Amino acid sequence: MSTPNESQPLPAKQVFDAPVAHEHLVVVLAHPDDEAFGTAGTLAMHRAAGVPATFVCATYGDMGRNHGQPFFANRETLRDVRERELQNAADALDIELVLLGHRDKTLEFEDAGSVADRIAHELMQRKADVVISFYPGRGVHPDHDAIGEATYAAVHRFDENNRPKLWAITVTDREETEAALGAPDVEMNVAAYRHLKRAALEAHASQTKAMFDRIARDDPADAHLKERLERGERAERFYDLTFAAPR
Ligand SMILES: [Zn+2]
Repeated sequence: MSTPNESQPLPAKQVFDAPVAHEHLVVVLAHPDDEAFGTAGTLAMHRAAGVPATFVCATYGDMGRNHGQPFFANRETLRDVRERELQNAADALDIELVLLGHRDKTLEFEDAGSVADRIAHELMQRKADVVISFYPGRGVHPDHDAIGEATYAAVHRFDENNRPKLWAITVTDREETEAALGAPDVEMNVAAYRHLKRAALEAHASQTKAMFDRIARDDPADAHLKERLERGERAERFYDLTFAAPR
């Protein structure tokens, strides 16, 4: 059920039902759970077809507590909890994990060049042909924008002839984003992998259990949560920054 003022998403320019990466899909994001919300269906689709896939995770998400939630972890233990959850999500999706090991909420203060060096190294080692990160300036969280910028820089170090595709996730309000950027360039039809995406999301219990509990109560006030979850389980949508600059 859409909220009254919310329009339907613009149709994406290209819709894919099958893997686009053939060598190696590499997802580079800031926190454990970013991969589950934004890319789990695309990762699962590629693994089902036997394409290698890696999540390069920049931080441990060790500051990811809101108003005392989750109650079972403090900031000292949360790093361990989130690392374990991340491993469980990676196991559910059958993907490789690379942890860059930065502290949560510090990424914007790291030397951008050296983060980009490290990412370029990981991409080169794996002969990545599709890379997914955040859209610089549209990540909402400073860590998201910082990893998006570093990944953009890393991909643009490759010359045009052997540059991997770069697909970008926007976290900013969808209608506002579509008004500014137009329709997304790429939509992955991931409906067939929704059970694996759900398993990955549930693995990040410290971040997602409260959301699933609210959805299970079926309160009409939370209808937008369910709607957003279901939309994300049908399709994952990206803007193509392989040859374009963020705007
Ligand atoms: Zn995040």
